Amino acid sequence: MQVVHDAGNKPRPTRGRVLFVCDRPDVDPAVASVAAELGYEVLRVPSADEALRHTAPPGFALILAGYTGDVHAFAGLLRRLRAAFPPTPLVAIGLPPRRDFAVEPLYEAGALSVLDEPISPPILKSKARFYLDAYDTAAERTRAQEALEETRARLEATIAAAGIGVWTWDIDADRVVADRRMAVMFGVDPELAENAPLSAYLAAIHPDDLAPTEARLQEAVNDGAGAYAATYRVRDTGAGSWRWLLARGQLERNSQGVTRLRGVVIDVTVQKQAEERLQASEERYRTLFDSVDDGIGVIELLYDAGGKPCDYRYLEVNRAFSTHTGLADPVGKTARALMPGHEGRWYELYGRVAATGEPVRFIEEAVDLHRWYEVYAARVGPAGSRKIVVLFTDITERRRTELELRRLADDLAEQDSRKTAFLATLAHELRNPLAPIRSGLQLMRRTRGDPQALARVQDIMDRQLDHLVHLVDDLLDVARITRGQIELKPEWIDLDDVVRAAVDTSMPLIESARHRLDLRLPATPLQLYADPVRLTQVVSNLLNNAAKYTPRGGAIVVAVEREFEHDREQAVIVVSDNGIGIPAESMGSIFQMFTQVSHPSLRSHGGLGIGLSLVRSLVELHGGTITAASRGIDAGSVFTVRLPLAGKDSPMPVQDNLETAPGAPAALQLLVVDDNRDAAETLAALLGIMGHTAPVAADGHQALRMIASLRPQIVFLDIGMPGMSGYEVAEKVRADPQCAGVRLVALTGWGGEADRARSSAAGFDAHLTKPATVTAIEDVLARLAAPRQLTS
Ligand code: ADP
Repeated sequence: MQVVHDAGNKPRPTRGRVLFVCDRPDVDPAVASVAAELGYEVLRVPSADEALRHTAPPGFALILAGYTGDVHAFAGLLRRLRAAFPPTPLVAIGLPPRRDFAVEPLYEAGALSVLDEPISPPILKSKARFYLDAYDTAAERTRAQEALEETRARLEATIAAAGIGVWTWDIDADRVVADRRMAVMFGVDPELAENAPLSAYLAAIHPDDLAPTEARLQEAVNDGAGAYAATYRVRDTGAGSWRWLLARGQLERNSQGVTRLRGVVIDVTVQKQAEERLQASEERYRTLFDSVDDGIGVIELLYDAGGKPCDYRYLEVNRAFSTHTGLADPVGKTARALMPGHEGRWYELYGRVAATGEPVRFIEEAVDLHRWYEVYAARVGPAGSRKIVVLFTDITERRRTELELRRLADDLAEQDSRKTAFLATLAHELRNPLAPIRSGLQLMRRTRGDPQALARVQDIMDRQLDHLVHLVDDLLDVARITRGQIELKPEWIDLDDVVRAAVDTSMPLIESARHRLDLRLPATPLQLYADPVRLTQVVSNLLNNAAKYTPRGGAIVVAVEREFEHDREQAVIVVSDNGIGIPAESMGSIFQMFTQVSHPSLRSHGGLGIGLSLVRSLVELHGGTITAASRGIDAGSVFTVRLPLAGKDSPMPVQDNLETAPGAPAALQLLVVDDNRDAAETLAALLGIMGHTAPVAADGHQALRMIASLRPQIVFLDIGMPGMSGYEVAEKVRADPQCAGVRLVALTGWGGEADRARSSAAGFDAHLTKPATVTAIEDVLARLAAPRQLTS
């Protein structure tokens, strides 16, 4: 410790300081030793003026004033010091022991104690300690007071800033002591804030919240822990609306039992409104989320040790999610757990969205779910977020349709190109027989009656015409099949008969190429319920092909067998040859319409590429199958037809509306109506040769006139005529009772079920498909020659 003599140098006191005002250095040692012992710092100044410069802090714990030699001046010094440092204890020291003046004025001037010369360190020490302790205690109290004040002020400021109301409810006295804020919140007069019954506050509470709030208070009073918490609305008288308050309190008990509940209230209207807005927005979000037809999922990506996305977890999904995926309750589960075979591409795509924050739209298959999806994925949250919202639609059906459409379009394009090629072939094929027919006609004109030449020419023309008719028949059959108009006329037949008839038909072709034919028929003939004409067509077509596509002198085998397969009995017809064969790549297409395989060794054999397509359709109409096999080029071909021996169970349409001819009729009065003069006259001539009278009408009007005047028994009426169609003529004839006995025969290129139904509806008695064969004409004449039976 030290005595500081220089007042300008201000050391920091550790506990407090002693101000020592004295102009006599001889007393220093005693003061210094006392100060050192007490652990105080002493500031030594020589005069009052000097001391007064220290009125500002740091203050002093004790002032020692040294006697100046003049009692009046000394009293003046004391007074000045007293006035300058009012609370500081002041001790006058160093007064002469034998003095001629009284010390009372010094006490009056402010000294608390007066010490004589020589200064006794123990006395000084004792006095100083007393005053210093007193000072310390007082200073301590002041500091504590100030700290308390500070805390209280801070708390008050905080409470005010937070808008918190503070209250105490004296339960026994039913007295609520609240602060002004609390009173204002509840609309209670602030003057009564210090003393109002609880009911004054309860009165402001919303009727719906009152009972629950009272219940909470009651619970707090009765409950051991005594904690009170409630949220309720109070009327905001100013705004005419309600404000939300949150109240908290704690019960305090004294030794006599429960006395009061202390607590706070805080206005939480803003929070409550924010909460309501949040809830409303959450509800809106949820409604939207669930009402969207698309599937929606919020997922969290999962990464492997190398930082690569390898899985994801479903955090949230909407209602449509399971409709689109078939996955129930996916939330919390991972994609790998739900779909172990889920393609890595999904994780890559989502990983990219999370990394870049750029949304993506893509179409991808989920193999495990057997579905295709159109997906939109976007990151949720800022960079670094692993959450992704995924919107998706199951487009499996759409995709299937698209693929199907694409396939259909490809097929159509393929068919179209085949059709174009076909038309070229058709033109060529039709022209081929026309040329010899035309030259035949010219020849006939020139030969003029040479019967041998005529017979030769007629043969040629016959053959060529047959070829033409065959071509056109095939074409018409194909057209009918395409329209689903072909009708089978099934009956119980012997398959041997069919095969033999086919062999007969194809024999001229087989023989002209000098092929050897091996016919292998079963020991027991196979009975079949089928259309013999159509089956003959099938076998004969296969035989013709075998003959056509086998080099001269080849071997053709037709074998018929019975076969059991899956407990079903089948008839098998195998037509094989050792011809040019079929390359493997063409196998798939030979049964398609207009397909012709290009063979390196083959010149054109004629044909339109429709034969096999027709064969297959006819076989399938019979409920059968046809397959082709070949070991390749020049290795021959094998065509195998399988037909069920199920018999009448097969759903084949039975149609036979022509009755069998009862025999040749006598001479009849007929009429032929056709706008094609050649056709009309040829038929008329044929009918004439048969012994009937058959004039010709060139259109519908002429026909009606002639029917009225000639009253023919039977009219052959062309359907497709310009001006008035055959149907119209028939309807008019049927409307005329005078013509009731007239029988009408439709002549048309179309012989389908619908065509027949239509002509029958128009009033026709029979339906003949052009070109009508002599047999068909004879049948019709025989059937219709009898007088018309009028059904009433
Ligand atoms: P086409 O009128 O051309 O004979 P098809 O539909 O009957 O038409 O046959 C289609 C194609 O199948 C033929 O052009 C031919 O290339 C091939 N084909 C049919 N039968 C045989 C066969 N027995 N041997 C080799 N090729 C054949």
